[in-house]
Amino acid sequence: MTMKINRRRLLGALAGTTAAGVLSLNAVTAQEQASSQAQTVTAAPPNSNLAFETEILVCGGGPAGFAAAVNAARLGRKVLILERYGRLGGMGINARVWPLMGGVSSPFVKEVHAKIGGNNFDPERADLHYADFLEQAGAKILLHAWATEAIMDGNRIVGVKAISKEGTLTVRANLVIDATGDADVAFFAGVPCDMGREGDGLVQPMSIMFAIEGVGDNAQYSGSEQSARATKIGGNETWETVTTRAQKNGELPETVGVVRTYKMGRRGKACVNATQINGLFGTKVEDLTKAELECRRQAFQVVDFMRKYLPGYENIYVSHMPSVIGVRETRRIRGLEQLKREDLVTGRKWDNAIVRDARFSLDIHNPAGGGQAENQSHDQVQGTAGQVKPYEIPATCVIPQKVDGLLVAGRCISGTHEAHSSYRVQNICMAIGAGVGVLAATALNDQAAPANVDIKKVQKILFL
Ligand SMILES: Cc1cc2nc3c(=O)[nH]c(=O)nc-3n(C[C@H](O)[C@H](O)[C@H](O)COP(=O)(O)OP(=O)(O)OC[C@H]3O[C@@H](n4cnc5c(N)ncnc54)[C@H](O)[C@@H]3O)c2cc1C
Repeated sequence: MTMKINRRRLLGALAGTTAAGVLSLNAVTAQEQASSQAQTVTAAPPNSNLAFETEILVCGGGPAGFAAAVNAARLGRKVLILERYGRLGGMGINARVWPLMGGVSSPFVKEVHAKIGGNNFDPERADLHYADFLEQAGAKILLHAWATEAIMDGNRIVGVKAISKEGTLTVRANLVIDATGDADVAFFAGVPCDMGREGDGLVQPMSIMFAIEGVGDNAQYSGSEQSARATKIGGNETWETVTTRAQKNGELPETVGVVRTYKMGRRGKACVNATQINGLFGTKVEDLTKAELECRRQAFQVVDFMRKYLPGYENIYVSHMPSVIGVRETRRIRGLEQLKREDLVTGRKWDNAIVRDARFSLDIHNPAGGGQAENQSHDQVQGTAGQVKPYEIPATCVIPQKVDGLLVAGRCISGTHEAHSSYRVQNICMAIGAGVGVLAATALNDQAAPANVDIKKVQKILFL
C-alpha cells in the first residue's frame, strides 16, 4: 500500500527513527503534537527594545567585575552585571587559568577564598560560588550578553548596548564599571587607551592552558619557569634542558620555551601552561581565530612531548581543554594616574589607595619569542630583580580620563605594560574590583563624582 506522507509527517517520522532504523509511531505522534503547538518565530529587529535600567552596571563577570558588583550591591545599590559567556569567573573559568595568584590584603578576597577553597579553587564550581555571592547581595546577572556600544550623553556614559540571542539590549545606568579585561566599554566610550610595551607595541602572548590526567604518583611538576631551571629529571638533566632541546629539535613549537606543570587537587591531575603565540592581539577577531587554532594544535604537540620525555607523564591525556583562549594583555585605559614599574618595585603608598599590600612579581611572558621572561639579561625577568615590594593601587588609576560616569576594574586599569604584568593576576584584580564596587556605591550614595568621593569612607568600608 502506498502511503501519502506530508513534510511535517516525514520530519516527525525521521525524528522518531530509533538506533535500529525503525520508525516509532509514538514519536511521530509526539512530534506532530509538538509542532502543532510551536510558536511562530520572527527575526528580531536589529534594535529590539529589550531594555533594563539600573544604578550601577558592571560589564564583565571576571574576578574584578564580580567583586565590584557584589560590593556595590552590598552597599544597597541596584546592580546589574553583564557577561558575554555562559559562566562567571573570567579567564580563571573560561580559559582555565589556574590557580589564583598574587597576594593582597583584602577582607573581600579572603572571604571569597574561604568560600571557593583558596588559591587552589575548584574551577568546575567556582563560577557558581561567584553567582551565589552576587545573588545574595541582590545583584542581577545577565549571562550571554556582550557589550558592544557605549551610550553617551556628551562626555558622560549613560549606559551600554549589548548583543544577545534576542537581538540588541540596552542597559541604562547612573554609573558604569568596565571590567571586561579589554577595556571594551571605555574604548567604545572614547577613553584613550594604550596597548603593548613602549617602543614596538607588542603585547604578552596568548596561551591555551589545559588540564591533564594520568600523571604518575612519582612524577615531578615543574612549577614556574624559574623552578623548572632547578628541577632535575632523569639523571642530571634539568626540566628546562629537556624542554629546550625538544624545542630545538622541532618537537616543540619555538615559542613554547619551558613546559610548566602545576599539580591540581586530585591525584594524577595537573594544569599545563606551555602554549604561546606571539605578535597577535586579543582585541582582533582574525588574530583571536588564529591564536585559538594554533595554540590548541600546540597543546597536543606538548602532550606528545611530555609522554615521550617526562618520567611519570607516559600515560597522560587531556582532560579539559578550555572553550576560549587565554588573553594576557590588551588595552589599558589612561586614567587620572598611571601605575608604573617604579611604584611597584619601591612599594609606593598612596593616600587614596583602594588596594593595599599587593604582591606579585613583574611577570612578562615574552612578547617577541619563546618563554616566560621578556629578556633574561634584563632586570624585568621573573625572579629576584623582578620582585616588587608590597604596593598600593590608587583610586585615580580606575577613573578614566575624558569620560564621566565610568570606572574601570581589573587588568585594564591605568598602568604601564610592566606594572600591568604584576597586578593582572586574579587575586589582585579581585581586590581592585572590590575597591571599585565600594567607590562606585559611595559615589552614588554621596551624589559625588568618583574623583570627589571622600576616600577615607571608601577605605573604612574596604579595609575594616
Ligand atoms: C594563559 C594565562 C595564564 C594565566 N595564569 C594565571 C594564573 O595562573 N593565576 C592568576 O591569578 N592569573 C593568571 N592569569 C591572569 C588572569 O587570569 C587575568 O589577568 C585575570 O583573570 C584578569 O581579571 P579581570 O577580571 O580583569 O579580567 P577577566 O578574567 O578577563 O574577566 C573579564 C570578563 O569580562 C567578560 N567580557 C569581556 N568583554 C566583554 C564584553 N564586551 N561584554 C561582556 N562581557 C565581557 C569576559 O568574558 C570575562 O568574563 C593568566 C592569564 C592567561 C591569559
